[in-house]
Parts: sequence; structure tokens; C-alpha cells
Amino acid sequence: MADSSFNPFKMAQQQFDAIAEQLNLDQATRDFLRNPDREFQFNIPVRMDDGSYKVFRGFRVQHSDARGPSKGGIRFHPQETIDTVRALAMWMTWKTAVVDIPLGGGKGGVICDPHNLSMREQEGIARGWARQIARNVGPVQDVPAPDVMTTGQHMVWMLDEYERITGTKAPGMITGKPVGLGGSLGRTEATGYGVMYTVREACKKLNIDIAKTTAAFQGFGNVSQYAVDLYTKLGGKAIAVSCWDHEDKKSYTYRKMSGLTFEELIKVTNKFGEIDKAKAQEMGFEILPGDAWIEQAVDILVPAAIENQITKDSVMKIAPTVKIVAEGANGPTTPEADEVLKSRGILNIPDFLANAGGVTCSYFEQVQCNMNYFWTKEEVLDKLDQKMTAAFHAVYNLAQERKIYMRDAAYLISISRVAEACKLRGWV
Ligand code: GLU
Repeated sequence: MADSSFNPFKMAQQQFDAIAEQLNLDQATRDFLRNPDREFQFNIPVRMDDGSYKVFRGFRVQHSDARGPSKGGIRFHPQETIDTVRALAMWMTWKTAVVDIPLGGGKGGVICDPHNLSMREQEGIARGWARQIARNVGPVQDVPAPDVMTTGQHMVWMLDEYERITGTKAPGMITGKPVGLGGSLGRTEATGYGVMYTVREACKKLNIDIAKTTAAFQGFGNVSQYAVDLYTKLGGKAIAVSCWDHEDKKSYTYRKMSGLTFEELIKVTNKFGEIDKAKAQEMGFEILPGDAWIEQAVDILVPAAIENQITKDSVMKIAPTVKIVAEGANGPTTPEADEVLKSRGILNIPDFLANAGGVTCSYFEQVQCNMNYFWTKEEVLDKLDQKMTAAFHAVYNLAQERKIYMRDAAYLISISRVAEACKLRGWV
């Protein structure tokens, strides 16, 4: 799946430059926003279970704190690069701006593969990451969260390390924490549900009854799982899900024409969101090649795995039936593929709008931590729905009004908000 020649940061800058041109932004604002505010790269030495020491490379990039503390997850990934983290940090800035929450954008990462690490070793990495960056993150500076292959458990280790170093209790320092330790109800569902709130609104706009639609999903991690869950609750039929097998580490598309459900899929899924192919076969799912998800004759495609999946080649495989592409992952579609989606009139719900539910709920988590009073799950999801629905309509209306692509409309809104904050602060 990974393509080593693909540079997500170049793509993020390319997307930014095109909109900066349309907005006629002055040169200083362009120079300021096309690169991160600041970035950190560091070593994390860990004593391994066999007594040896191993040094992992860690990153934190703070793209912008113009609208509030930087905000964004930390990925544990064997192919992590500084450029990937830079791109993701920049996308976080646009994400928090498009849903209009008072936060900026950042991202972190560690080059490691949790598949091959014990929990004790992962704790060493998580605590080491927090130790190295403790002076530069915190409730009013930069607030990390979970992302690819990190969980609430990693967040608690990082928080605990931070609190030991600072001698404080600071639950607002990190989000995505377990419920009962400063976490918010609904955070687990938030990103996937958020994707589906926007799909539900898109269907209304296109005059499609969501209960009569079919969809194919790429990935079955946290985002895709809850997107499938809500989609089927809304009556849609999830006919295909593509993801990795836990043993041979290849991806396959699992298909069931009568519709797959969250409950049956979760039975054959491990904690990394990998489906056990043998068990899936026993359950009667059809097993197709990993990239077959994209060519299914469905109404809705949900790429919810990683970046660079809908490319100039794979976009050609999208069936004529597809009306909506909802980007659960960050950066799944390349600019060349965007041109094809545009020309085919497919409604794209861009990543930083579609998957903003996670960070929006993280914001609610911070608000609840600050009040030290926690809402019910219904209250959280209700507030999330309102935020996502409002953001979707703002972007959709602008796209209609100016006859532009949804990604461009979302960028116009976000970049203007962030540029305005920089101006008001007198930075550029
Ligand atoms: N990692 C998630 C994202 O990419 C959530 C970030 C957060 O909650 O801060 O949006």
C-alpha cells in the first residue's frame, strides 16, 4: 500500500498554494502558513524486554497555534516520516478551523511497529515521547491525542509522565483518554460517526435516501468501524470492507452483497483493526483482492485507511454508480485523482471535514475536563452532530454558490479563518 515516492507534505503544500492563490493571500501569510510554526525531532531510548536498548525516533510538529493551542494525534507507524507528520499537522490546522473550534493544528509520531512490541515496551515509547516533549506540549500549548496505532492507554501513559514531570494534574494536556480518567463518552465513536453525519447530510442534498444506498469502505480501524456502525444504523448496506489480514499482512476486500454489519465484522477483527481472513471465510464473506473495494458498484466510497489511496490510476476504477466519496482517512486522494472526481461530478467530502469528528470530540473532552463535569454520551453525540452538520452545510453551500469542488470550498473557509487569526494577532 505504501508508495515511497509519495510525499504527503508536498501534496498538502500544493493544495494550500492553490487556495492561497485563489484567496489572493499576501506573500508573508503564504510563507507563514505553508510551513509548520515549529517542529521537534528526538530520540526515545527504551529498554526492551530482552534487556537490550533500542532507540526510536519521535516527532512533534506544531503547524499552527493561531486559533488556539495546537491539536492533533500521535501515530505509531513503521513508515513514519517527518514529511508525513508535517502534512498531517497542516491538515489538523484546517480541520479545527473548518469545524470552528478554538484550536490549532499539530501532529506527532514515532517510527515503530506496535505489532512487534510488548505493552511494556510500548509504555516505554509512550513515556519517552512525553518526556522529550513535556516542555512544549500542555493544555494551553499543544494537546496530543490518539491516531494510527495509538490508543487511550498510550494517552494515559503520556499524561502520567507529563504530570510527574510538571508536578500537576493536567487532564487537559491530552485527549482520547479512557472514560473515568478524563475521557469523554462518545470519543471512540466520534470520528466514524462524524464521517456518517456528513454522508447523511450529503445524501439529503443529493436527494438520495441513505437507507437505499450501498457503500464500500477501505480500512477497519477505529474510523471505519464506527462509520460502518452508524451507516448500517441509518439503514445503508455496507457491502465491502477492505483491510489487512493479521497473519500475512496483505490486504483483502471482504464482501457480502446482503450487507456486512459492525457486530459480525468486529468478531473477526483484532485490536489493530485487522480482519482474520480464515475466520471471515468461515463466516461466509467473499474474499477479493485488497484494492477491489474501490471498484464496487456502490453509491458511497469511504476511504478510511491511510493517505495516497485514490490516485490517478486507482480513481479510474471507481464505478459509475458512485455519487459520494467520504474521506475518513487523512489525505487519501491525490490532486490528480481530485481532478477526475471533479470532472465526474462526484461529491467529495474532504478528509479534514469528513473526519473532523474525532478532534471535535477531543475539544468536548477538554471542555469537560476544564469544568470537571462530564456529559452523557447522548449529549456528546448530539453536540457532535450539530457541529459536523453545520460545518458540512457551510462547505456545501459555498461550493454550490461558487460552483467549486468541496475540498476547495473547505480550504477556502479554513485558510481564511486561520489567515485572519494571524492578521488579527499582527503576525504577518
Ligand atoms: N487523530 C485524530 C485526527 O486526525 C484526532 C485528533 C485529535 O483528537 O486531536 O483528527
